[in-house]
Amino acid sequence: MPKAQETILEIDRSALTHNYNYLKSKLQSKTKFLAVVKAFAYGNDAEKIAKHLQWLNVDYFAVAYTSEGVALREAGITKPILVLHPQIVNFKTIIKHCLEPSLYNTNVLNAFITVANEEAQTNYPVHIKFNTGLNRLGFWESDVDYIINKLKATSSIVITSIFSHLAASEDANEADFTVNQIKSFKVIATEFLSKLDYKPLLHLCNTSGVINYPEAHLDMVRCGIGLYGFGNSANEDKYLKPIASLKSIISQIHKIEPNETVGYNRAYVAKTYEKTATIPIGHADGIGRHLGNEKGYVIINGQKASIIGNVCMDMIMVNITTINCKEGDEVIIFDGNNKATDLATSLNTISYEIITSISQRVKRSFIE
Ligand SMILES: *Cc1c(COP(=O)(O)O)cnc(C)c1O
Repeated sequence: MPKAQETILEIDRSALTHNYNYLKSKLQSKTKFLAVVKAFAYGNDAEKIAKHLQWLNVDYFAVAYTSEGVALREAGITKPILVLHPQIVNFKTIIKHCLEPSLYNTNVLNAFITVANEEAQTNYPVHIKFNTGLNRLGFWESDVDYIINKLKATSSIVITSIFSHLAASEDANEADFTVNQIKSFKVIATEFLSKLDYKPLLHLCNTSGVINYPEAHLDMVRCGIGLYGFGNSANEDKYLKPIASLKSIISQIHKIEPNETVGYNRAYVAKTYEKTATIPIGHADGIGRHLGNEKGYVIINGQKASIIGNVCMDMIMVNITTINCKEGDEVIIFDGNNKATDLATSLNTISYEIITSISQRVKRSFIE
């Protein structure tokens, strides 16, 4: 693999294929696979990732917001796209681009039916979201009759799926809660289906749900983080390959003397004769200020170099006093060996936040 010559997020399509096949291998052959590609496919590149997954014949996509779905359509994605969190103002755009809204309360249900009627739609595909304990979005079980009555009064929409979302599928300590969510969802779905004369898809599991709750795979699963190579535990991580490596380069090396300072606000003070390297990646690239002052680190020639002083907008300085390196050497922020999960753990956050924070300024480069 060529060494990085600037800051770059290198994305490995073969790792994406591996993760997709691994997650698929956990499913029964009839279970459909929905790939969650919201937030630029978790900070990677939604269009290229979705194209590869479409080529692998994934069944469905999901995004959070309408604009993300529009971008995928404009990039040539033809598979169905579920919009998890649309707003009423987007409903015309949704129909124009053949996107499928998640309808999660009476307001959005009624507004969507109105727009679908105005746009002369019949049997427009929509998805009904139920809340089973996450308490974020979703109808309650007590809303089933209300929804059914609305459906009977219109031919503009058809329910393509009924779904819910697990609150703690990664956490073995919360297994009782998760089992209860699964049970509640099955009760709601059974009641709903008994009042319809067709059968929507049922889905509930995210990545950790796929791995930990095979009895809840139902008709479809919704995987995000696993596709990108992370689970939510060491056990889940074992079989997945991080698809992205964030790399950079040493622009300049400085030798500093005791009591000299480094960076803005003079936040780092050298204790002895030290060496620092300046790297062209900063908070505008997704290396948050909280990584400064020796909370975060990078890897140079296999060794950890901690970030000293404050993170600047376009660069960081790291301590290389004990590292054998030179200007132009490659710097790894994370990759398949030095995982984003490790960086996340040292910052008290999760891999999701590290990878989705990489800003659009960082060039994406795909490798096979
Ligand atoms: C983001 C999201 C997912 C994907 O979850 P992962 O843990 O990344 O697999 C699935 N379903 C919903 C409703 C989501 O918002």
